[in-house]
Amino acid sequence: MLFEQAASYLKPDDLGQLRAAYIFSEAAHEGQFRRSGEPYISHPLAVAAILAQWHLDGQALTAALLHDVMEDTAVTKTEITERFGRMVAELVDGVSKLDRIEFQSQEQAQAENFRKMLLAMARDVRVILIKLADRLHNMRTLDVMQAHKRERIARETIEIYAPIANRLGLNALYQELEELSFKNLYPNRYRVLKKALETARGNRREVLEKILEAVRQRLADAGLEATVTGREKNLYSIYKKMHDKNLSFSKVYDIYAFRVVVKDPPACYLALGALHGLFKPIPGKFKDYIAIPKANGYQSLHTTLFGPYGSPVEIQIRTQEMHKIAEAGVASHWLYKSNNASLSELQRKTHQWLQSLLEMHSESSDSVEFLEHLKIDLFPDEVYVFTPKGKIMALPMGSTCVDFAYAVHTDIGNRCVAVKINHELAPLRSELRNGDRVEIITAVHAKPNPGWLQYVVTAKARHHIRHFLKTMRYEESAQLGERLLAAALAALGSSLRGINPTDWERMLKETGAPSRHELLANIGLGQQLASVVARQLHPAEGGEASMDGHRGTLGPLTIRGTEGTALQLANCCRPIPGDPIIGFIKKGAGMIIHTHDCPVIAKAHRARAKWMDVEWAPDTRKSFPVNIRIIATNQTGVLARVAAEIAEHDSNIENVKVDLEDSSAYSGIDFTLQVSNRVHLARIVRGLRQLPEVIRIHRLKA
Ligand code: MN
Repeated sequence: MLFEQAASYLKPDDLGQLRAAYIFSEAAHEGQFRRSGEPYISHPLAVAAILAQWHLDGQALTAALLHDVMEDTAVTKTEITERFGRMVAELVDGVSKLDRIEFQSQEQAQAENFRKMLLAMARDVRVILIKLADRLHNMRTLDVMQAHKRERIARETIEIYAPIANRLGLNALYQELEELSFKNLYPNRYRVLKKALETARGNRREVLEKILEAVRQRLADAGLEATVTGREKNLYSIYKKMHDKNLSFSKVYDIYAFRVVVKDPPACYLALGALHGLFKPIPGKFKDYIAIPKANGYQSLHTTLFGPYGSPVEIQIRTQEMHKIAEAGVASHWLYKSNNASLSELQRKTHQWLQSLLEMHSESSDSVEFLEHLKIDLFPDEVYVFTPKGKIMALPMGSTCVDFAYAVHTDIGNRCVAVKINHELAPLRSELRNGDRVEIITAVHAKPNPGWLQYVVTAKARHHIRHFLKTMRYEESAQLGERLLAAALAALGSSLRGINPTDWERMLKETGAPSRHELLANIGLGQQLASVVARQLHPAEGGEASMDGHRGTLGPLTIRGTEGTALQLANCCRPIPGDPIIGFIKKGAGMIIHTHDCPVIAKAHRARAKWMDVEWAPDTRKSFPVNIRIIATNQTGVLARVAAEIAEHDSNIENVKVDLEDSSAYSGIDFTLQVSNRVHLARIVRGLRQLPEVIRIHRLKA
C-alpha cells in the first residue's frame, strides 16, 4: 500500500531509496515483534503509508521507515547518513530525540510548554509530521495494550499531539487523534455516547435530507455550482460540548451541520447571501475566516441558521483550495506543489512553507502578525528544559545553568555550586538545550561568583548576582573598616566607644558619608584612611604623631583570611598563615595582604602611610593557595609520582604547569597547592625532597 501510494507521486529515484530503506529497516528490526504479535516492520511501514497519504516527500517517507531503528536497534546515525544521506539521518535523529523526552505533568500550562518544546526541538516540520503519523498508528493499534498504558498514551495524545495537529491545520488527523484518545480515556462514556448517536442518527435522517435538498435547490437557483454535504460531528466534540457547557446530548446533537464547497472566494459570499435568504441567520454566529484566517491557515465562512424544525443549521462555506488546506493543513503544501530537488534543503523548505502561507494571506491586513505567530511557534527564541520534578521551564535562548538556577529561585541561584544535565555533571556555564533535564546542586554557604556575570543572559540572574556581590562587599568592607578604625583609635589612646555623638555627626558632615556604616565601609575599601579619620574623631592629642613614626604603637591587625572581598591575599606572593605579612590599603579595593619579602611591595615605596601591620590569627581553618616550582629529572611518570606525594599530605592541586621548553634532562613543574599554613607546606616540601626525581623545590613569589 505504501509503495502504490508513493508511486503515484514520487520520482523513480525516491522510490528506489524508499525500497532500500524498507529492506534495511526490515533487517534491522529482524526478530522484533509488536505487542499484537506482528513483525515490528509493520509499524514503520504503516507510519510511512500515512505520510504517503499526505504526499510527503521521499526523504520524509524514507525517514519514517527508519524512525525506530536508532532507538530500538544497533544502527547509528553515521550509518544512516552513509546509506540514505544527511537529511534523512537528521530526520530520523530528530524523531528519536522527541521519543526520548517524556511528558509527566498534568498541568495545562505545562502541556502548552511541552508542545512548544516539541516544536522547537523538531526544527524541521517533517520531524513533527513523522512523529504525528507515528502517534496516529500507535493510537490506532492501542487495543492490545494494558489499560493503564492505554490511558497514559491517550492522555498524552489529547493534551500534546492532537493540539499540535490542530495548530498545524491537520484537521482530519486532529479529529482522529481526539476520537481515539476519548475512546481509550473514557471507554464507557464513549460506548454510551456512540450508542446514543446511532439511535439519533436514524431518527433524524429524514429531516437532514429535507434540509439538504432545500440548500441544494437554493444554490442551484442562484446559479452557483456547489457540492453540499452533511457533516457528522465527531463523538469527542459532542462530548466536550456537553461537558463544557453542561448540555444534554439532544441539545448538542440536535444541530444540523453542512459543508458547501464552491469554486472561488466570491462564490463563497454569494452562497452565503443565498442561504441567508433561505433560512434566517442567528445573530452573532457569522464568522468570516476568509478575510481573517485562523492562525493555522484555516479559511471558511461560518454561519448558523434557524432551521425549519426549530433546530439550528450550521453551514461552512469554502473553496476547493480552502477545503484541501482545512483537511491536510501544512501537509497540503507538499500535497499540491511539484517536487523539485532543492526542496530537500531544510531552510528552504521551511521558508517556502512560511512563504506560501504568507502569500495565501497577503490580502489580509494582519498577515505579518500571522507570520510572526507561526515563527514563534516553530522556532521560538526560547529554550525549554525540565526540572528534576518534570516541570518545564522556558528560558531565553542561550541561557546557562546559572540562569536556570535563578529562574527556579533566587536562593537556588545564590547557593548553586554545581549542576547535573541529564544526570551528568556539567560546568555551571553550560548552555541549555531543548529537552535537557537540569538539576542544580546547592551548598548552604555558597555565594555567587562574579565570573558568572560574564555568561548569564537573563536579567533576573544578572540583577541578583550584582545585588548580592554589592551587599556582600559593602558588609565586609564595613566590618574591616570598623576594625581598622578601632586599631587607629587605640593608637591614639581612644576607642570607638569613647567617641561622642557630636564628633561622629561632624565627621559625617565633613566626609559627606550618609551614615556611620557607610563611613566604615569607605575605610574598609580604602577610600578613607583610618588613621586620618581617627585623628579627626579624636582631635585632643592631634598633631603630635604621624602614622609613619608611630606605626608600632598601633598593634597589628589580626586576620583569618576569611574576611571576604574587603580583604584579599595578594596573587603575587600568595601569603599563607605563618608568613610574616603586611597589609596595603588599595583605594576602592580594600586591604591587600602581601608577605614581607614580596618583591612587588619592595618596589612600592610610595604611600607608606597606607601600610598596616597585620598578623595571622592563630586558628585559621581555611586552605590557602600557594605556588611552588619543582625541578625534576625528565622521566616518564614523574608528574604522577609528585602528584601522589602531594595528595599523600592531604593537599589539593589547584593547577599544574609543566615547562617543556627546559632542557631534555630536567623539567620545571609549577604547582598551585592548597595548604593550611607554613607547617603544612614544609611537610609537603620535605616529602617531595625524598623523591629521587626531584632536584630542587622553591616557593614562587611574584
Ligand atoms: Mn514508532
